[in-house]
Amino acid sequence: MRSHRETAVLEPEEQALQVPERLRDKFGRAITDLRVSVTDRCNYKCVYCRTGNEGAQYTELASEDYLRMVRAFVSLGVEKVRLTGGEPLLRSGLIEMVRELAEMRTAFLPDGTFANGNGRPLDLALTTNGHLLEGLAQPLKDSGLNRITVSMDAVDAETFTAITRVPRSHERVLAGIRKAQAVGLGPVKVNCVLLRGFNDGQIEQFAEFSRREGVIVRFIEWMPLEEGRSWKRESVVSMDEIVERLNAYRPLVELAPHAASETAKRFTFSDGLGEIGIIAPVSRPFCGHCSRVRLTSDGKIRTCLFSQSDHDLYGEMLRGGTDEEVSAYIRMILMRKEARHHIGEPGFEKPSRSMVHIGG
Ligand code: SAM
Repeated sequence: MRSHRETAVLEPEEQALQVPERLRDKFGRAITDLRVSVTDRCNYKCVYCRTGNEGAQYTELASEDYLRMVRAFVSLGVEKVRLTGGEPLLRSGLIEMVRELAEMRTAFLPDGTFANGNGRPLDLALTTNGHLLEGLAQPLKDSGLNRITVSMDAVDAETFTAITRVPRSHERVLAGIRKAQAVGLGPVKVNCVLLRGFNDGQIEQFAEFSRREGVIVRFIEWMPLEEGRSWKRESVVSMDEIVERLNAYRPLVELAPHAASETAKRFTFSDGLGEIGIIAPVSRPFCGHCSRVRLTSDGKIRTCLFSQSDHDLYGEMLRGGTDEEVSAYIRMILMRKEARHHIGEPGFEKPSRSMVHIGG
């Protein structure tokens, strides 16, 4: 019989043999991707997301609380953790939190598997608007962050300011993207929500931006998750339209997906320069492959962006739940993950929480 010492140095093929079952919902989808909102404060007031009203209340938990919740998810098999918000770079103690999360990546169990039990290290990513990124990119990299996504809704500064409603931020975001690329957090993904009449004129400029800066540009269809009630199907710029416009700019070549659960359809151009992803939750829902679960900044589990209710994981902890009870609660809630969303169908109800409060 092998001792623990021997099993801790298993060859990768041997580790693969002892991979335990992944965490699955009742439809058999593997739940491997956790998004954690570490604050619901945001320093932008994007027209498609916020109403622009000042003085809203916000909620943040202590870092240790998020860490305990994430640890429970990781021990159940989550492989990717993405920090988001609100704007996560506004969160005090963020760098230390990233360091502690990165330590979970290398926390080996006695049998030689990683903490998530899957034999694969934890992938740690963050989504930001980039306003504060230039000064934080290096510390984030040093503390163990793997990847970064920057939301930038226009290449052109004037359009950018009209959308974010924050003056003089555009050049800061560009500097943040370049710094992240320089410190090894690249290739940076640059997410753009296209809105007809605002930034749909920017599609070709984004293609050039991807080719020039070496970033992956991803266009996202606008979803009904805004604070007010401004969403209209006619304002959504669909995947088909984006593909047509890009093809007219330069012929597109489709790239193979990295994984079945990948939300973006990936393309490059005929000369292989630049990468574009298109995420089409409205015109081409990908719920059948959804691997995601979200944790809001007040510690609630959301099993779908469009869930009508959320589940109080933090409350379970406050009631004195042990680690085993907290994990059992997560398993039970994930069994309730919805089959799909119903955007655009008769009777569709927008969730009471908006994107800035859910965590994108
Ligand atoms: N502040 C960070 C940022 O800007 O990336 C993280 C939070 S933000 C809510 C995350 C992402 O959600 C951003 O890329 C934003 O553009 C996107 N988003 C916000 N509202 C959306 C909506 N209604 N439909 C689609 N994407 C949305």
